[in-house]
Amino acid sequence: SVPASIASSLSAAARRGLLMKGGAVIETAAGIQLVAFDKTGTLTVGRPVVTDLWSVDGDDLATLALAAGVEAGSSHPLAEAILKRAEEAGIAAKAGRNARAVAGRGVEAEIEGETAFVGSPRYAAEQGAMTDEARNRIEALEAEGKTVAAVFRAGRLQGIVALRDEPREDARRAVEELSSLGVRSMMLTGDNGRTAAAIAKGLSMEHRAELLPDDKVKAIRSLAEGDAVMMVGDGINDAPALAAAQIGVAMGSGTDVALETADAALLANRVSDVPALIRIARITMGNIR
Ligand code: ADP
Ligand code: MG
Repeated sequence: SVPASIASSLSAAARRGLLMKGGAVIETAAGIQLVAFDKTGTLTVGRPVVTDLWSVDGDDLATLALAAGVEAGSSHPLAEAILKRAEEAGIAAKAGRNARAVAGRGVEAEIEGETAFVGSPRYAAEQGAMTDEARNRIEALEAEGKTVAAVFRAGRLQGIVALRDEPREDARRAVEELSSLGVRSMMLTGDNGRTAAAIAKGLSMEHRAELLPDDKVKAIRSLAEGDAVMMVGDGINDAPALAAAQIGVAMGSGTDVALETADAALLANRVSDVPALIRIARITMGNIR
């Protein structure tokens, strides 16, 4: 019977770490036409490492120390990477006071009585803290798929820190498998357009970049008007975007709370479980029809 077939698929999927919240999820998953992926921690490993430093006055260690002082107040993956590099360089960073996130842009704190910021170069430029030389370097680094954090203090650029977050080893294969199922793949990210384009090109997928948290939800809503959309994210800060898709799938560190906000969870942290889930759903529904 129909429920028995779905129930056995659900339990077979669960044995390999693909949790679905019920039979309706199988039905919807079988018809998915587009999968939108959050970038950081979903398509990528989510553990960026510092690759390049550059400073206006040539003192890279001072730039690293200032960046670490500001990032001491942040738990963003980029913050962890910068703090780790500072520690490796033997820098005892002075943690800034009153650290606060600037949503989708970076983090700000008081250092020695001055306001300092680490985060998106675009925001630094908007604040008047950018130079032509820095901009050229930043654009070249971004074209290599690196994320660049601008470091400024009291309205003046001090330097830049470039970071790279490697794609998961199975990300490219997952996109290829989705493509062979006739399903489009799209990366959604708050990162800048050049970095996003370089990473998306390497994975042969579409992308939308420079999305603030609200923009991700809007992007999903507009995509979901034309296509049956699955959104794959980490389940915590992506909750509103997961909820806006026909199916929200949580992957990675957020999986303990995942099934509260998501329709499905991938416990094994494999991107290739996304096409696997759709394939299982299609086979199940095909067996029923
Ligand atoms: P995503 O998860 O898609 O990378 P986020 O909203 O987490 O998007 O961040 C968007 C952008 O804001 C990052 O690419 C980075 O440029 C900047 N940013 C956010 N938080 C920080 C931080 N703590 N340090 C440096 N840059 C940051
Ligand atoms: Mg994020």
